[in-house]
Amino acid sequence: MERFTGSFTQQEPIPEEGIEAALAVLRHGRLHRYNVAAGEVGEVALLEQEFAAAMGSRYALAVASGGHAMATALRAVGVKPGDAVLSNAFTLAPVPGAIASMGAVPVYVGVTEALTIDLDDLAAKVDRARVLLLSHMRGHICDMDRLMAICDAAGVVVIEDCAHTMGATWNGVMSGRHGLIGCYSTQTYKHMNSGEGGFLISDDDEVMARAVILSGSYMLYGRHLAAPGPEVFERVKYVTPNVSGRMDNLRAAILRPQLRRLTEQCAAWTERYQLVEEGLRGTPGLTVIDRPGAEVYVGSSIQFLLLDWTERAIGEVLSRCAARGVELKWFGGAEPTAFTSRYDSWRYAPVERMPATDRILRGIMDMRLPLTFSLEDCALLARIIRAEVAAVQQGMAAE
Ligand SMILES: *Cc1c(COP(=O)(O)O)cnc(C)c1O
Repeated sequence: MERFTGSFTQQEPIPEEGIEAALAVLRHGRLHRYNVAAGEVGEVALLEQEFAAAMGSRYALAVASGGHAMATALRAVGVKPGDAVLSNAFTLAPVPGAIASMGAVPVYVGVTEALTIDLDDLAAKVDRARVLLLSHMRGHICDMDRLMAICDAAGVVVIEDCAHTMGATWNGVMSGRHGLIGCYSTQTYKHMNSGEGGFLISDDDEVMARAVILSGSYMLYGRHLAAPGPEVFERVKYVTPNVSGRMDNLRAAILRPQLRRLTEQCAAWTERYQLVEEGLRGTPGLTVIDRPGAEVYVGSSIQFLLLDWTERAIGEVLSRCAARGVELKWFGGAEPTAFTSRYDSWRYAPVERMPATDRILRGIMDMRLPLTFSLEDCALLARIIRAEVAAVQQGMAAE
């Protein structure tokens, strides 16, 4: 019986160029982003300029984490304690966490079988809030044209959580460029790896000036290369708090070479994703997530559904796959484990039950596809999952 022996948590090493640049920063010792020698431009400022260019935005700001980027974005658009903020029922804990961090209250919108936000549910709830923190969870992008039409008509500001869509597009527009602000993470499991880190991008002058001050720029914002001019800061600098959460030059040095090869990396992920998807397609009882033609996605992880399976049968698939070295995550598990959780796990916020969403969440299986996996590895992973899902299904049918 075939067994997989790769590690689902092993990313690629940092490119040599990044290691060299990091050593240079360590050697000169100027790690704080505003600690620069006369005439020097720091790694963080350069990274921001390059990230803005790569995403096609006017401005970019690098921060300490993806979660900090989202919280900064919410503050920059004026979310206040007690405000309702729309967000996805299917997302990762730091998303409602960013909302809760400012004393605001998440209002969850359901998920469809495509694993994207339920736009009918959004249309029904859009009047309840001024802001939508939209999570492109696991890289699945909804019909962004319809989403923006719904939100624009209601005057709702859209902030995009692009933790899994850095490098992806919808209808030719980069993820993060539909809403007012795009937020990204450079945590180890995302599309660029600096251990921890994040970005936010925007074209809006005042939003970005506020974000820069919020990130902890003191009155050193003039050292940014991808921020608005001083006249904009004059309007916000006395009334915007410093909520320290900067990126440092060491992490920026590691990220700059990774950004230069982001497009190739994204293609490598998607090649792996498509191999696994092909291998799973047609497995009885297993629903593959069909991706819309308007979406160019980054397949850094893959999801499939075991819709309407019992908990016991899903548990059996998980344990049989695990026994063969295949680590699946079950987002629908009742108890949050490791990185998984669902909207009713976040008990600090009120929830309204969403039966259609619960049915989808109960069936979501997830597998990471780090780039240390070869194409042969991916084909093997699909064969194992296919065999074990089929075995459990036959067992169920025989009962
Ligand atoms: C990882 C992640 C984040 C937050 O990123 P951190 O850098 O870990 O704070 C936000 N949203 C989603 C969907 C994520 O997966």
